[in-house]
Amino acid sequence: MRAVSTGAEQVASLLREAERAVILTGAGISVPSGIPDFRSPGTGLWEKVNPMEVAHIDAWRRDPDRFWSFYGERFASLTDKQPNEAHLALAEFERRGLVRALITQNIDRLHRLAGSERLIEVHGSIERSVCLECGSKVSIDRVVELLATSEGAPLCEVCGAPLKPDVVLFGELLPEQALAEAQQLAMDADLMICVGSSLEVYPVAGLPAITHGGGGRLVLITQGPTPYDGDAEVKLDGDVVTELRAVLAAL
Ligand code: ZN
Repeated sequence: MRAVSTGAEQVASLLREAERAVILTGAGISVPSGIPDFRSPGTGLWEKVNPMEVAHIDAWRRDPDRFWSFYGERFASLTDKQPNEAHLALAEFERRGLVRALITQNIDRLHRLAGSERLIEVHGSIERSVCLECGSKVSIDRVVELLATSEGAPLCEVCGAPLKPDVVLFGELLPEQALAEAQQLAMDADLMICVGSSLEVYPVAGLPAITHGGGGRLVLITQGPTPYDGDAEVKLDGDVVTELRAVLAAL
């Protein structure tokens, strides 16, 4: 416990000193909410399918009905999930004026539910689905209703085309504006705290390098190795909830 609290105290003081801190989160922060990281093999929904195939833009284009027979299950598995103490701690940092923004790779909208306000969801969010034909946006609640009342893909109620979840599927580029905002924040940051991400998937994995290259400090709160372990001021590698609870307590 002492080792954890010492590291947590260091993170707390870096946070207090920083003027332009940003947070970057990945799948690991949502694991305690019951959302398995699909990169850990054999977990839940991803047990029997290859996410790179079923959640690929080509799969959606080829056969939206089949795509949604899988993705609808993913929606259903995510809609009842709640933010955990780690999400709440990060929202609290923002409320106290200690961080400027939160960049996340997660699509589960749990940061928003936890109260984070300046949130850049670089992989999109399940909050909405979109019609690529006419540009309509549909809320998750309506999509869930459409999925429950009809077979196959939910259809746009304006033009009848199949909807696409407003998340970045495999094979798709990241939304330009969100990525540009994330890069600008990373460039300006004097501290970046990376939580629950192995920082292996580009372009998001390049954000800490932008901060570090500009003289900003890095903190890692994640289990397992990352490419930035040697650059980080502090690395906390315990459970994210325990670690962030300790940081909050040390503030
Ligand atoms: Zn439409």
